[in-house]
Amino acid sequence: MCGSHEDLDAHHIMPKSRYPHWKYNVDNGITLCNQCHEKADKGLFALSFLLGITS
Ligand SMILES: [Zn+2]
Repeated sequence: MCGSHEDLDAHHIMPKSRYPHWKYNVDNGITLCNQCHEKADKGLFALSFLLGITS
């Protein structure tokens, strides 16, 4: 998303605690760098945007 290919980390779009049935859905996982992952966890990215980059 920011173009970084360092410190890549998997992010679950839907929080596993709130959406347990999403846990094994591959569409729920995206790869972000650490910085973007932190922003995503804080809700700084719109959900529609996160879902958009998986497709
Ligand atoms: Zn990034």
